[in-house]
Amino acid sequence: MKLLTFTGLVALLLLSSSIVTTCDTEVKPPKKDFRTKNVIVLVIDGPRFSETFGDSTCQYIPHLAKDLAPQGVLFTNFRNNGKTNTNSGHTAITTGVYQSIRNDGTELPKYPSFFQYYLKEKKIPKEKAWIIASKGKLNILANARKKGWFHSYMPSDYCGPRGNGSEYVADKFTWDVVLEKLKTEQPSMMLINLLEVDTRGHSNDWPNYLGAIERTDKYAYKLWKFIQNSKHYKDNTTLIITNDHGRHLDGHKDGFVSHGDRCEGCRKIYMIGLGPDFKQGEVVTEEYEQIDISATIAHLMNFEMPTSDGRVITPLFK
Ligand SMILES: [Zn+2]
Ligand SMILES: [Zn+2]
Repeated sequence: MKLLTFTGLVALLLLSSSIVTTCDTEVKPPKKDFRTKNVIVLVIDGPRFSETFGDSTCQYIPHLAKDLAPQGVLFTNFRNNGKTNTNSGHTAITTGVYQSIRNDGTELPKYPSFFQYYLKEKKIPKEKAWIIASKGKLNILANARKKGWFHSYMPSDYCGPRGNGSEYVADKFTWDVVLEKLKTEQPSMMLINLLEVDTRGHSNDWPNYLGAIERTDKYAYKLWKFIQNSKHYKDNTTLIITNDHGRHLDGHKDGFVSHGDRCEGCRKIYMIGLGPDFKQGEVVTEEYEQIDISATIAHLMNFEMPTSDGRVITPLFK
């Protein structure tokens, strides 16, 4: 075997490290004057891909499949590549960092969310940014542990009626709050969590799990219709619809009942992006992931989010 000289080795290392750096440095798409002035993220908690877009008939998601996806861009290879639980999945979406966070609402995200970066950089009052969740424990999403961000630049939140992190509330009550805030406060940034698919799954109630997928499909459609019928939100609002995680594949552990590991059923989810700056009627099979949502929102709304590990989801844009 031929031995490399020390200088040769150093040169090789430098060369390979520069190659890695080049590949890692992501070229951001150029900043544009986007029409988007408001962003709403709807997280439907825990449907398995095989019951949504993985089912070729899309029988449980008629509105998502026939009304919404054709007006936006559908990602059929979207993933939670971190821990596939509720709080970890939502944290990946809001902070752009996969963090193995406790799932009971007793641990804050380490890094600030797109809400906090937005409120800080744009000097927006907290009434203009809302987290509205059926799961009380998701009030952690409003805050971050990182120095300089703890209890700072926090959005408003409604996470259950008492908002103390302990309660779950039915989606219909969450929906009422969503509508009320959209009408009265007119926030420019909102994240909504609807829980029923996940809780019916955990109850091992297959018919009601499917029914919950259909009910959340209706909420997604109602939300888009509300945006289209609102003078304030029409033509300047981006809606992102996705999931925090999937559920185990059939034949793996207890199947659709649970989630939380690395199986393909837990990882694979969908994402639909709709809005004035996005293409229409496209289906993207290239892989993108939860952490990319934050980078995409920061790009759209023109603020910096240096702690996000995500990349801008370029196939969305016109
Ligand atoms: Zn769950
Ligand atoms: Zn699994």
